[in-house]
Amino acid sequence: METLVTELKQRLMEVDDLRAAAALLNWDQSTYMPPGGAPARGRQMATLYRLAHERFTDPAVGRILDALEPQLAALDNADDTVALVRLTRRSYARDTKVPPAFVSAAESHLAEIFDVWTRARPADDFAAVQPLLEKTLDLSREYTSFFQDYAEPIDALIEESDYGMTAETVGTLFAELRQALVPLVSDIVERPVIDDSCLYGHFPAAAQREFGEAVIKEFGYDFGRGRQDETHHPFMTKFSQGDIRITTHTREENLVDGIFSTFHEAGHALYEQGIDPRYEGTLLAEGTSNGVHESQSRLWENLIGRSYDFWTHYYPKLQASFPEQLRPVPLETFYRAINKVQPSLIRTAADEVTYNLHVMLRFDLERALLNGNLAVRDLPEAWHERMRSDLGVTPPDNKDGVMQDVHWFIGFIGGAFQGYTLGNIMSGQIVEAAKQAIPQLNEQIRVGDFAPVHTWLREQIYQYGSKFTAAEIIERATGAPLSIGPYMTYLRTKYSAIYNL
Ligand code: ZN
Repeated sequence: METLVTELKQRLMEVDDLRAAAALLNWDQSTYMPPGGAPARGRQMATLYRLAHERFTDPAVGRILDALEPQLAALDNADDTVALVRLTRRSYARDTKVPPAFVSAAESHLAEIFDVWTRARPADDFAAVQPLLEKTLDLSREYTSFFQDYAEPIDALIEESDYGMTAETVGTLFAELRQALVPLVSDIVERPVIDDSCLYGHFPAAAQREFGEAVIKEFGYDFGRGRQDETHHPFMTKFSQGDIRITTHTREENLVDGIFSTFHEAGHALYEQGIDPRYEGTLLAEGTSNGVHESQSRLWENLIGRSYDFWTHYYPKLQASFPEQLRPVPLETFYRAINKVQPSLIRTAADEVTYNLHVMLRFDLERALLNGNLAVRDLPEAWHERMRSDLGVTPPDNKDGVMQDVHWFIGFIGGAFQGYTLGNIMSGQIVEAAKQAIPQLNEQIRVGDFAPVHTWLREQIYQYGSKFTAAEIIERATGAPLSIGPYMTYLRTKYSAIYNL
């Protein structure tokens, strides 16, 4: 058995090396590459991903798994080797079911629709993308048809990003959350609008970067195993356990967008940096689901990073970084400004309360499209209708409606959105459990001491990588299955105080 496990790990390490090389090319493309590098770079990444796919779906991998599985039957489910073989089998079964011809047809279609979207969006020309989006929908359905045993097509896509969840379980949680959120939003919009003008002006980029990096260092982000660079759409990326990088987008006219983006990506990176180094190069060495990943980015960004306790400690430091701009602004004013709730058109710019309504809208529309209950040509109207009923705003066009971001124009329809809101729900439940385990947590945050909460998160969640499923992680860390209760309590308590509800 030892020999087989060693051979499996060697093969997975090679696959991981190829993917890491592609990820590094991608990081470079998003940060420092001159524009002239673009055409070749796309091809180079595609070559590396194709080689990685070929190496991973090699029949020899299947034979190793066949030989190992019977020998592991007697071992505990939580054994590292059992988990490794289980995860590899799941991925292998999936990857070997998709015909290579389909992959290349889908890739060239997605390259085309992306290109058309970049011009159609500024021109507000939905008609230009509509036939292509219909084809994306067909391809998405075809893709899900390669896998059997799902109640709904979208389940096959949800399983890839949030293993263990289905349209039905997500739909039930989301319906409950929507019912609780819509009235909270209506209560808030009745209150006077918060003045957040203190966040706009001129804030030199270097000072913003310095402040953000000082904070995430104190969160526990290890700059000896990472770095931060500027990009357009911030992301975290990983090349090995020893090199986990983040990016941010600093804008001098806005004080906080770049700083909160830094906190967010650092949250993703803390998760990855905390994974047991023994898992290096295997499928165990990554966060277990999109939802759990997002729970960590949102936890550090919002539940900690937008809390009053946090800014009690850090606001004087921020004022010292921008004395002229912030000296006249009291902490209370700044705290309310960074937590201003205002229904708006764009998901990525949404506040903590309304953000989930954007995500649920996307999830429900994707589900309807894939189930054949909604046609692409009716999508803009369905979108507008839902924005009116849930957020009380009407998009004036499709540019900031259905075409607002790249998601539906760069990949399949389905599977990419639910993780954002699942992550928020999880973050509330995880912080509640952390507070029970660490009664002094709020006091610690008030003095900038994050070591206890970081250690707790590493022990409960980070170290395990993908060994446990999201449901198992939540159950282990909080002692209960996933529920919206703690997250809604968090939102209600925080925003009742801010808005005097
Ligand atoms: Zn994120």
